[in-house]
Amino acid sequence: MKTRIRFVPLGGGQEIGASCYFLQINEENILLDCGKTLKGGAPRYSCILQAPFLESLGQINHIFISHSHYDHVGDLEYLASVCTRAGIYATPITKALIGYMLWDLGGASPSPLTDRQREHAEIRLDKAIRSIITEGYCRALPLPGYTVTFYEAGHIPGAAMVHIQTPDRSILYTGDFSCRPSALTAPYSVPEGVHFDTIIICGVHAKHPSHTAAGIHRELRSISKRVAAGYSLYLEAPHLTKAWEVLQIINEGMENKCLPLVPVYLDRPLQVLAERMERMNIRVLKPWNHACTGHGQGPCLWIGRKAAGAWRGRKDTYRHSIDFSLHPTYEELKRFILTYNPKTVILVHTGYDATGAANCLEAELMASAACRSQFIYAENGEIYTL
Ligand SMILES: [Zn+2]
Ligand SMILES: [Zn+2]
Repeated sequence: MKTRIRFVPLGGGQEIGASCYFLQINEENILLDCGKTLKGGAPRYSCILQAPFLESLGQINHIFISHSHYDHVGDLEYLASVCTRAGIYATPITKALIGYMLWDLGGASPSPLTDRQREHAEIRLDKAIRSIITEGYCRALPLPGYTVTFYEAGHIPGAAMVHIQTPDRSILYTGDFSCRPSALTAPYSVPEGVHFDTIIICGVHAKHPSHTAAGIHRELRSISKRVAAGYSLYLEAPHLTKAWEVLQIINEGMENKCLPLVPVYLDRPLQVLAERMERMNIRVLKPWNHACTGHGQGPCLWIGRKAAGAWRGRKDTYRHSIDFSLHPTYEELKRFILTYNPKTVILVHTGYDATGAANCLEAELMASAACRSQFIYAENGEIYTL
């Protein structure tokens, strides 16, 4: 019997934020990710709380979490409380990171919680995280009517691509992924010989044809010059996992003598995260890394995420904002699609339209004789039958 598949983006369609995708495989109801926007906007569950879908979110059978970024996991606490029959799956590292990521951003929430609200929210979040079932990479998980396998996605530690196989269909949800190694991850990795007929692809740069890879490595020289001249720098990353990545790059730079060896102070959330991850065998910390408790003498580096502010009050300290993309470039997205040449490419999680010609990726690939894919730029709330 042919598998019946329906797909509805509830958030994270042609936008970055609140990634949550409903997938119905015959009678099985699946959610891929459960993110929120940075302003706290939740996915639009109302789109599926109607015929022919669900009467309540209690009918969701399984939730697969690709990685621990807020736009993919921010609504976990709510969903875990209403999807009472759902198995929630993630890799062990993603499960370990979720609490840090959510509380880090929760602290910057536009509507601060009272102590009591915060305590209750912490208990609910803790319960939700404990309910997550962990699954390693490349192990087929048998579920009713289909199997699910996680593959390494690169991007950040613990990130997974989700491969769903039925007897007649092979669907890949990439989540956020990267094609190049980063300081903390290898590139994405799918075993040889695996094929997909549908790829739901997170294409942050799908509408940015001129986007090229630029990382912090370029900035090391200017950081090095200032430190050598006796100044200190506060390296400010937009969020916790990027601060963690910056720490690794700085430590490597000091080990390779591209940077002068000076004390490196970590803001509290970064220090706690890095220490916890050491215990999970992601070793980043070096003897010259210290908790950000006091002001040392002489030049030093401080690393933290935006608005931490520990550097304030030091006249010899420069603030240096650092941001970089952990996503495939436009050219890498093209190569990725051509590598698997699926029948259907569903583009989601796309960034702003830099060209005014939103479908230039599709146009370029369709012009290639090797490409046999049909493209869907999936919109929030639209129903797609696959
Ligand atoms: Zn991400
Ligand atoms: Zn994302």
